[in-house]
Amino acid sequence: MSAELFHLSGRPVIIGGGVAGLMTALALAPEPVLLLSKAPIGREASSVWAQGGLAASLGPDDSVDLHVADTLAAGDGLCDLHVVRDILAAAPQAIEMLTRHGARFDANPDGSLRLGLEAAHSRRRIVHAQGDGSGREVMRALAETVRNTPSVTVLEGLEARRLLTEDGNVTGILAHGPNGAVHIVTDRVVLATGGIGGLFLDSTNPLGSFGQGLALAARAGARLCDLEFIQFHPTALDGPGRPMPLISEAVRGEGAILIDETGARLGGELEPRDVVARAIWKHLQHGRRVFLDARQCLGASFAEHFPVITAACRANGIDPATDPLPVRPAVHYHMGGIAVDRASRSSLAGLWAAGEVACTGLHGANRLASNSLTEALITGLRVSEDLSGSAPKRLRKPRMQDLPQPSDPTAVRPILSQHLGVTRDDAGLRAAIAALQPIAENHSEAAADPALVGLMIAEAALARQESRGAHYRTDFPQKSVLAPSSLPRQVQS
Ligand SMILES: Cc1cc2nc3c(=O)[nH]c(=O)nc-3n(C[C@H](O)[C@H](O)[C@H](O)COP(=O)(O)OP(=O)(O)OC[C@H]3O[C@@H](n4cnc5c(N)ncnc54)[C@H](O)[C@@H]3O)c2cc1C
Repeated sequence: MSAELFHLSGRPVIIGGGVAGLMTALALAPEPVLLLSKAPIGREASSVWAQGGLAASLGPDDSVDLHVADTLAAGDGLCDLHVVRDILAAAPQAIEMLTRHGARFDANPDGSLRLGLEAAHSRRRIVHAQGDGSGREVMRALAETVRNTPSVTVLEGLEARRLLTEDGNVTGILAHGPNGAVHIVTDRVVLATGGIGGLFLDSTNPLGSFGQGLALAARAGARLCDLEFIQFHPTALDGPGRPMPLISEAVRGEGAILIDETGARLGGELEPRDVVARAIWKHLQHGRRVFLDARQCLGASFAEHFPVITAACRANGIDPATDPLPVRPAVHYHMGGIAVDRASRSSLAGLWAAGEVACTGLHGANRLASNSLTEALITGLRVSEDLSGSAPKRLRKPRMQDLPQPSDPTAVRPILSQHLGVTRDDAGLRAAIAALQPIAENHSEAAADPALVGLMIAEAALARQESRGAHYRTDFPQKSVLAPSSLPRQVQS
């Protein structure tokens, strides 16, 4: 271990500087913790880019029961009811906590929170900031608080490359920092590494979100589940840049319509995300183009409603007031992840997971929009409740390993994009597995870890011979007739 980190041995280590990681660190205060982030805090985290906001039943006509019902409907039979209740009942408290940490949400003239409506929510319950700048504001507040919290030691530019284990217990982390390999001795690790969009060619996620947490957990022997469930956002801006800017559902909510290159309307703009994504996908597969047209409904007021989206469009030479916006579906959110219990504990002793990398059972087969930031906050709290005060056991010196080379998902992106997209089938999934397996097994390959994650997703998608939520099989277009409670949540280790 490098000398500079020796004095930090034994502290809980949080890997990830998005909402989940920052919240976990703050909730654990005053317990001293290390927070590792490969990118500087505020960069390369989906959290910063969240547009819509955070769902919480705060309105006078709303209740936890209604929020639960909407979440269960989106999850299509695979949500864990107890977890859904637990997380959503705590959502108002999470908003309060963020306000205490200095987040400034959009408010009505009387000071009450202005609540937005999003598709598939039966009530106005989306707390937002600066219109579509919600994630940026939440991250500003949390990052500022973390930097002023002496118990949190933030180590930016440190990338975790392996979890070290012995006899089924976490014993440390092997990371790469500015001066090379770093061994950190700890028996308590929280993974908060975000999503997997960077494994695909078309994604709204930061390019660095390519499932590193899943690879770390899987190679250490932790169980993962529901990996086949990937949410595709139907309307990402179809320009040359990657990642793709998101054109939020709220734009369709304001009346924007979907048209093709001839100006003919597609319709169904306010259908669930997966339905809209498949409709657009089908058009594109036939060589057509699809545009979101907000000229009539918003026109010149577009920029006022959606400043972040306007900036992204203008950077691509498009003016939403006068131009239809070219769109295509893009990987947006991963419902699957590291299987955790209600305390956010994984199956591996000493490993917790929070935020998008975790699979709590809240989302089931599909995520209800704006439930994920809420989940990231609450899972952070749950980790801290379980972990706080747990004194380190007798620390073991981890067995040294060579530092794996940096991961590069470039080789796996075309494979996953071709075979694990909006629609899947047996032949495509088998082709993906055949292509990914040799890469995943060759540890000297830079794409080995991304290929391992892709392989696990493909195997889960092949095993699920039905269409449910965000997982659509053209060869099994129906939902299984089994009662949802008897359907397996697919677990891999
Ligand atoms: C464009 C966009 C809009 C969205 N809008 C909304 C919305 O309105 N409402 C909502 O609820 N959800 C939204 N989501 C989803 C939501 O933003 C994410 O699910 C959530 O922010 C995930 O938070 P997180 O802390 O788990 O991960 P992230 O915020 O992605 O943070 C992951 C962190 O882990 C670090 N990291 C990764 N691997 C390593 C490693 N090996 N070593 C060290 N550090 C590592 C990264 O650098 C980063 O700091 C949106 C997502 C996107 C992409």
